[in-house]
Amino acid sequence: MKFYEVQGMVLRRKKINARDCYLSILTREMGRIEVFAGGANVPRSPLNKGASPFVFGKFSLSGRGNYRLQHVEVIDGFYYLREDMERFLAASLVSRSLMAMLPEGEANRPLYELSVNTVAVFHKYPQLIVQATVYFLYGAARATGIEPAGPECMACGQSGYVFDVGEGGFLCEDHAPAGQRLSEEELEIFRQLSTLGLVDFLNEKHAPQPLAHVRALLGEYWHRQWNLDINSIQKELDQFR
Ligand SMILES: [Zn+2]
Repeated sequence: MKFYEVQGMVLRRKKINARDCYLSILTREMGRIEVFAGGANVPRSPLNKGASPFVFGKFSLSGRGNYRLQHVEVIDGFYYLREDMERFLAASLVSRSLMAMLPEGEANRPLYELSVNTVAVFHKYPQLIVQATVYFLYGAARATGIEPAGPECMACGQSGYVFDVGEGGFLCEDHAPAGQRLSEEELEIFRQLSTLGLVDFLNEKHAPQPLAHVRALLGEYWHRQWNLDINSIQKELDQFR
């Protein structure tokens, strides 16, 4: 029997029966793991408060390959996420993205930090949900080495004007004569995404229209890369705006 102390955030809870559940946890040390949480559905179980989606804490595990939850020390329950449908959906987009893109057991520290920080923003600043989502979609792709190429043209290095989702990056007008040209504001958002950290990006002013377009393009990009229909999740979210 081995024991592990990990820091992480619950992505999903899957009920097995009235008492027990499986948790998918994004951990700093071990990547995304599946953990058996015996008795965690029972309200008086000491594991119960740590077994909800988006709980962030220190998890004590035992086992080898099949992990069993022994103890949870909650650092932040991100309580508002479960009280507010819009915030919950935004955080669900993050968890579904991670389930789709991150193979089990593959530790990825930058992706871990980005994910926890993004969910913390949803929890604290619901007015920044769209900006933080855009940053997450771009940053998560970068953290797994699949960042869109650009914003210079992939073929010649000139200023790119077209984001070619199929080619996975930017092209200039000569190299993508049929592409849909981005506005200066949209290009600027892509420049910021490729150079700024999360907080600096959130502190920039973004008009809703260009931001929504960049978000839709990143959604298409994700659909291509990870076969996850981000844009239909976004549509659900937009009903709250
Ligand atoms: Zn070119």
